[in-house]
Amino acid sequence: MSDAIERVCLSVNSVCNLKCSYCYFFAKPDALPGPASLTTDEIGTILENIHRYSLRPEVDKRIKVNFVGSGEPLLSWTAIRTAVEHLHATRLGHRLRFYMVTNGVLLTAKIIEEMKAIGLSPSVSLDGPASLHDSDRVRHNGRGSHADVMRGISRLREAGMPVAINTTLGRKVVDHLDEYFQFIAEQGFEKVIFDRLVDVPDDVAVSYPEFYRALRRIAEMKEAYGLDRLEIGNLEAYRRALSGKPDKVCTMFGSTCGAGFNNIIYMQRDVYPCGRMFGQERWKLGRFDEPLERFPERMSAIVGQQGCGTCASQQSAAGPDCLIERERPDYTSEPRESFIAWFAQRAKVPGNPA
Ligand code: SF4
Ligand code: SF4
Repeated sequence: MSDAIERVCLSVNSVCNLKCSYCYFFAKPDALPGPASLTTDEIGTILENIHRYSLRPEVDKRIKVNFVGSGEPLLSWTAIRTAVEHLHATRLGHRLRFYMVTNGVLLTAKIIEEMKAIGLSPSVSLDGPASLHDSDRVRHNGRGSHADVMRGISRLREAGMPVAINTTLGRKVVDHLDEYFQFIAEQGFEKVIFDRLVDVPDDVAVSYPEFYRALRRIAEMKEAYGLDRLEIGNLEAYRRALSGKPDKVCTMFGSTCGAGFNNIIYMQRDVYPCGRMFGQERWKLGRFDEPLERFPERMSAIVGQQGCGTCASQQSAAGPDCLIERERPDYTSEPRESFIAWFAQRAKVPGNPA
């Protein structure tokens, strides 16, 4: 099993054409990483460092590079595209794969063709039907963005691109899963990933136990709606983890925490184990122009074996749980463990004792 960095997120800017009510970075302006977007050269430096790291013997997977927010990455599209093109031209046969999470509003036919040309797979943030999406995912003038996002999705489909949807799993979506699944079924989406809403006021956030209860209902609804072709990224991640092949990224949208050891995030020029740790000096792993191998070493110095989740006392069938949750004084792994046991039975994961 890989014990190397397998996923790198790059937050290239902190500006956005939307102003979602639950956006962590806009809800807490002090948390913004600052106005200066990464330049083409700086993105190029990061990609070159990831490429060098990918040649190390412990790296046995192609590394996923995901362009994400604390802002809208398409507002930095020219810089991203140029840096990726440069890597393709200068590092033939490199082992990096490119992804992006976008709010979809700026997707044009031209950008989509350019994404195809550089092999970048986008996923689009969409919280279901307009009745759910538009109450939170709004423009700066307060107008809902659903129609704009759906136009971007249509363009992806017209270009023959697979459409993956990222849904922020807030209280509203959890309370209206029927409405949500009806919409997903009507639209014929093929892939959905739920991203648990956290670090916002309790009345909209989804707590750790609520999240695992919701995942269970999501698995049941997928079946109830007969959505055999729909892939729910979170459930697939648990299936892989239970088969002994976890992607060590994040339990908020995957199965297994890889903070700092297998998963890092560049918040513009600073590097952290996880986006939720941004701005906390304790968790800062370094700067954008340093070699990647230094970051897991520093993570180890911060948390040691206790934090990394590899010791037996913290092992679960699906691997380490969320480090932030584990640090809470009232932490109990029971909600996740119950879900895992239920899912292993239901999904009949071969070779799993649960
Ligand atoms: S699209 Fe993303 S970065 Fe922009 S406001 Fe919404 S949640 Fe925040
Ligand atoms: S610490 Fe929690 S939020 Fe951060 S990467 Fe790990 S699972 Fe995700």
